[in-house]
Amino acid sequence: MRPKELPYLCPMVDYLIVGGGLAGMAMAETLREAGQSFRLFDNRSQRASRVAGGLYNPVVLKRLNLSWKGGELMAHSIPLYTNLEARLGIRVDAKLPVMRRFASAGEQNAWFEAADKPGLADFLEPRIIPNENPALDAPFGYGRVKHTGKVDTAALLEAYSKSLHREGHLLSESFEYEALEFHPTGISYKGIQARGVIFCEGYGMLQNPFFSDLPLQGTKGELLTIRAPELREAAVIKSGAFIIPLGGDRYRVGATYAWNDYSQDTTAKARETLLERLDTFIRCPYEVEAQQAGIRPTVPDRRPLVGRHPEHPNLYLVNGLGSRGVLIAPYAASCLWAFISKGRPLPADMDIERYYRKARRP
Ligand SMILES: Cc1cc2nc3c(=O)[nH]c(=O)nc-3n(C[C@H](O)[C@H](O)[C@H](O)COP(=O)(O)OP(=O)(O)OC[C@H]3O[C@@H](n4cnc5c(N)ncnc54)[C@H](O)[C@@H]3O)c2cc1C
Repeated sequence: MRPKELPYLCPMVDYLIVGGGLAGMAMAETLREAGQSFRLFDNRSQRASRVAGGLYNPVVLKRLNLSWKGGELMAHSIPLYTNLEARLGIRVDAKLPVMRRFASAGEQNAWFEAADKPGLADFLEPRIIPNENPALDAPFGYGRVKHTGKVDTAALLEAYSKSLHREGHLLSESFEYEALEFHPTGISYKGIQARGVIFCEGYGMLQNPFFSDLPLQGTKGELLTIRAPELREAAVIKSGAFIIPLGGDRYRVGATYAWNDYSQDTTAKARETLLERLDTFIRCPYEVEAQQAGIRPTVPDRRPLVGRHPEHPNLYLVNGLGSRGVLIAPYAASCLWAFISKGRPLPADMDIERYYRKARRP
């Protein structure tokens, strides 16, 4: 890992990307659109992107406020999925309304207040929608969030990695950090020369010696897949748990948040929690078909980790997407590319420099 004295290194590709989840895919697509060449390494050691519910919704339904850069992310990020659908010939973005189930008249009032606020008015429909589904218990009705949807992340990433494989851009293997060599004009890795490496490893970042000092926490999440032929629901229902329609009488129910378990195994406790929450508002029989778990890459200040390594200027990071990878990944990737290619400063609240600055303070 020590700098080597090479007179000039001609890059064989522009960038190496480590990680083939939502962050790595968004980065690869951003580079491709900018005419840059790359190789992407993925070892499938992390699963967050493949198990994700895939919802995109700029409103934090618990607190009824806009999520970080909510409206801006919607406008910026959804077109990447639309373009990918056209380029790969797939349909993975389903425009689905998110229906927030009200548990009381107080919650209905809070909805009306929120729907009046600037920013939120674009997304919250200012009326109560009565429940018409006998398989759901919702006496106080629902509030509808507009412009929301669901990306089938597992299908998207499968199609994406197949296309990378066909084009010869995918290396289905672990990136070995100790094999990285630095040169005055770039880096080399096992005979591949590149301008730089962009790390997108999700929770796997903690194994990366260059960035493991950043405060990535990880929040485990689990989801169930149920089959419920009598439910016949086309919208996403948000109550104590989300119900996300998949088609063919199948629904995903999720998700849990756990901060003290970093294994990717499913647990009986999470299954029980999700079923308890589901049973508070579902009124039809169902059977559980599957359970999945993954670790969300979360950060203490709930902002992404994007930027350049303070000592190795050829190393970059896109991480910390937390529980909103679908909306944040394309935006974070394009901010990083504008930073690399045009020197445009990164938004300060996502720039990893915020943590390095703190560490340098006496
Ligand atoms: C249960 C659950 C439900 C969720 N629901 C939603 C949702 O509805 N909407 C939403 O927007 N977000 C959701 N999320 C969050 C979302 O999944 C994450 O924000 C996002 O997937 C993070 O993407 P990532 O690419 O940063 O990380 P990951 O998906 O973890 O991908 C990292 C990739 O890097 C690879 N990797 C790591 N180290 C190496 C190495 N050394 N060599 C090669 N490859 C390596 C891993 O194998 C992996 O493929 C959910 C998450 C969970 C767990």
